Amino acid sequence: MMLSEMSRDELLKFKADVQKDYDEFKAKGLTLNMARGKPSSEQLDLAMKMLAAVNSFDADYKASDGTDCRNYGGLDGIVDAKNLFAPMLGVSNDELIVCGNSSLNIMYDMIARCIIFGVDGVQKPWKDCEKVKWLCPCPGYDRHFAICESFGFELIPIPMHDDGPDMDMIEKLVAEDDAIKGIWCVPMYANPTGITYSDEVVRRFANLKPKAKDFRIFWDNAYCIHHLTDTPDKLLNLLDECKKVGSEDMVYMFASTSKITFAGGGIAVMAASEKNVKYIKSLMTVQTIGYDKINQLRHAKFFGSYEGLTEHMKKHRDIIAPRFKVVLDTLDKEIAPLGIATWTKPNGGYFISFDAMEGCAKRIVSLCKEAGVVLTGAGATFPYGKDPKDSNIRIAPTFPPVDELKLAAKLFTDAVKLASAEKLLGELN
Ligand code: PLP
Repeated sequence: MMLSEMSRDELLKFKADVQKDYDEFKAKGLTLNMARGKPSSEQLDLAMKMLAAVNSFDADYKASDGTDCRNYGGLDGIVDAKNLFAPMLGVSNDELIVCGNSSLNIMYDMIARCIIFGVDGVQKPWKDCEKVKWLCPCPGYDRHFAICESFGFELIPIPMHDDGPDMDMIEKLVAEDDAIKGIWCVPMYANPTGITYSDEVVRRFANLKPKAKDFRIFWDNAYCIHHLTDTPDKLLNLLDECKKVGSEDMVYMFASTSKITFAGGGIAVMAASEKNVKYIKSLMTVQTIGYDKINQLRHAKFFGSYEGLTEHMKKHRDIIAPRFKVVLDTLDKEIAPLGIATWTKPNGGYFISFDAMEGCAKRIVSLCKEAGVVLTGAGATFPYGKDPKDSNIRIAPTFPPVDELKLAAKLFTDAVKLASAEKLLGELN
């Protein structure tokens, strides 16, 4: 029976039953975590042999063009790493820079460059602008928002739809306001909604006519090969679409192997037009003589080719798809019949985005915490940590082992039921 159709007495009985179940969980003294999108240790084990891919017994420290990876040089990465990652992002080697261990780091650096030096040397640096505003499709990735907040930008929330962010709103805002300098996009298996931008959305991005000539799209393709099904989503290549209309300098693309090899111990890449790459390299060369080429070589040798990389991702899928299933099955069984929430069923990525009844998210997260299950803080998926509806919760099913996840998911549904019953009873009073 739908919770909203229950009488006061039925709701009280429902709540008392759930409370009993919840209290039993609480008494177990669990310590479970569905908060951050971290790979499980089984996933990390998949890449252990990579550590032996460059060994000390033979001269395999050379890249295929003879570059000695132990020495300085090669600012934008070794050719073998470029050959691996250029097809992943659908760009040429000249449009790619292979960097260090974290894409978040290169996004931060990219924004810092725009603030200090400006975009491609033509515009005035953002530090000299009275105000910098940034578009934040949400629910979105809290760390993206945190970067902009730390630089003092004004964050503008943009609603997310099933096919991407609200393009009508974006087109209007960027055309009218030259203080808007950028937007965050996670175009494939978005964090946290799991949706992939439709072809139309990608084309509309390519065709944006921003008033600010130094407006940039930060295209964080963190989950571009992280499929969970046999029918993966497909994403149109933004750089290609931009080239068709001459807007290719408007986009910076990012990705990393944090969820392919080792989280924080992999390789991050960025891609952009050749003109942008040249400019970025001219600034980067002051910052570093080059990134860790040994790690790049390790990755290149371990995977052999882009095909090797995509094959490897199937092993990840085998490990994490059952974890998504545990959570989704529990939600379907426990919550769907009650009509008190909606959630996404992603074809890839790392998250399930859960929308509770308005005003319930904080209460659910706190009920879970009291019973030993840590969730991402309610509101974290919105700029300034403020979800105007207090409804969205990001569930990250990849890290806990299946047995623990079963318990955590069940406890989560108890918390959802309790918070929803409390809300409905409050409305009846
Ligand atoms: N981008 C997105 C969308 C993410 O979800 C994450 C991690 O959860 C990152 C970037 C972090 O990537 P990295 O480890 O390469 O800094």
